[in-house]
Amino acid sequence: MREEKNRSFFENSIINKMPENEHEEVVFCEDNQTGLKAIIAVHNTVLGPSLGGVRMWHYKNGLEGTRDALKLSKAMTYKASIAGLNLGGGKAVIIDNSIKNKSPELFRRFGQFIESLNGKYITAKDVGTSSNDMKYIKMETNHVTCLPESSGGGGDPSSKTAHGVYMGMKACAKLCYGKNSLENKVIVVQGVGYVGMHLVEWLVKENAKVFISDIDEEKVKEVVKKYNVKSVGLDEVYDTEMDIYSPCALGATVNDNTLSRLKCSIIAGGANNQLAEENVHGRMVMEKGIIYAPDFVINAGGLINCYSEVIGYNREYVHDKVENIHNTILDILKKSKKENSPANLVAKKIAKKRIEEARK
Ligand code: NAD
Repeated sequence: MREEKNRSFFENSIINKMPENEHEEVVFCEDNQTGLKAIIAVHNTVLGPSLGGVRMWHYKNGLEGTRDALKLSKAMTYKASIAGLNLGGGKAVIIDNSIKNKSPELFRRFGQFIESLNGKYITAKDVGTSSNDMKYIKMETNHVTCLPESSGGGGDPSSKTAHGVYMGMKACAKLCYGKNSLENKVIVVQGVGYVGMHLVEWLVKENAKVFISDIDEEKVKEVVKKYNVKSVGLDEVYDTEMDIYSPCALGATVNDNTLSRLKCSIIAGGANNQLAEENVHGRMVMEKGIIYAPDFVINAGGLINCYSEVIGYNREYVHDKVENIHNTILDILKKSKKENSPANLVAKKIAKKRIEEARK
């Protein structure tokens, strides 16, 4: 299924992208019967099998989906490394509308493709997929995490991701305000899906002044009512006077346009790939005097949960490692300040070093 006939849909996009991204393997999956069009990107397996969620999203075309899979899988390599996990980086995308076009058959077929990789890629839930979808994948392969707790899995990892984001945000506050309390801080959470919603709960408990934003109006209403928070418009987010901007939707929201408008002292959120260009916008953030918690460090809680499922689930291990995100972020931020180097690049250097040492 990886050959000739997929070329029409995926074009020759990948050929140019692969060297630059140093991927070990990229698999194009297409199945006419179920309508499955997916990409599995294995970035690096030096530290262990690659693990990363499968995102189901209505990409414009195969090229856009491929780019996302490549970029996301690379970030997973660094995320696992810096979290001290024996995992490599991988990610998959299913190109389709997750609200309209999910079916058990589609996920089972996707599971067969994963099985064909013999454990080189382990999947998990991501945007547009759920623990329930993982049950269908499990019918075809054991290389799947985030299964419902009732099926013996670690369940949805999003609450762990949110916990880690909360801990990382507190570390940013410690450096910025001298103490790690978020009380009375104005925090805008952009995207109140699985991660954003759990994060709001932590923040409200700590008496932060929380504002939320989401393209899904029903979700906004639900969260405003449940947590007694306020909402801001989608684009208004970038012009709101706030202490902390917390991106918890999709990536690339820290870019030329938004950086000229953002009025905050901290950026700390759960979304992957928040910086549109890591080599450009990390520095711009720093030069604006904003403290940035590198996304692949602060949002590792979910991955830690998935890893625990792979090695034998242990609640305490997960809890302690997620809480430790606070210290990891603090160390990175201090190093960033000392070396006058963007926090994302400092973190990447640490992650790469561990991989290089393991490779040797
Ligand atoms: P989700 O799909 O449950 O939530 C995303 C939310 O963002 C949705 O409510 C959606 O309506 C909203 N959204 C989309 N575009 C938006 C926009 N332009 N403005 C405002 N809201 C918008 O996904 P999730 O599982 O909560 O993940 C959120 C982010 O965190 C993603 O980038 C994901 O890759 C990342 N992440 C998630 C986990 C996890 O454990 N779920 C782990 C690590 C990273």
